[in-house]
Amino acid sequence: MDFCPKCGAMMGPVDGVLKCNSCGYSEEKTIDDDKYKVSKKIEAKETVKMMGEDVDVNPRTEETCPECGNNTATYKLLQTRSADEAPTRIFKCTKCKHTWRAYD
Ligand SMILES: [Zn+2]
Ligand SMILES: [Zn+2]
Repeated sequence: MDFCPKCGAMMGPVDGVLKCNSCGYSEEKTIDDDKYKVSKKIEAKETVKMMGEDVDVNPRTEETCPECGNNTATYKLLQTRSADEAPTRIFKCTKCKHTWRAYD
């Protein structure tokens, strides 16, 4: 938020310049455009991250798949409702994509 250097009132963008709502003082500068672009960039990044969730970025572990006997699986931790309980590990076979859970 920008404030008027003359009267301290809030300034708002009017036709590409910052203009004081109170005394009419105006200041030429690229209004919040950069800030806007930056936040846009961050949004885009987060969308990419969310879309990438289906990709196997989870850590790998040696776990035998009950379906096909493959001994490599990726896993992720799933926090259960109670904080006292250990998080459940969800395994996913790297070969047949079978998923199963394990309790510690
Ligand atoms: Zn002013
Ligand atoms: Zn498998």
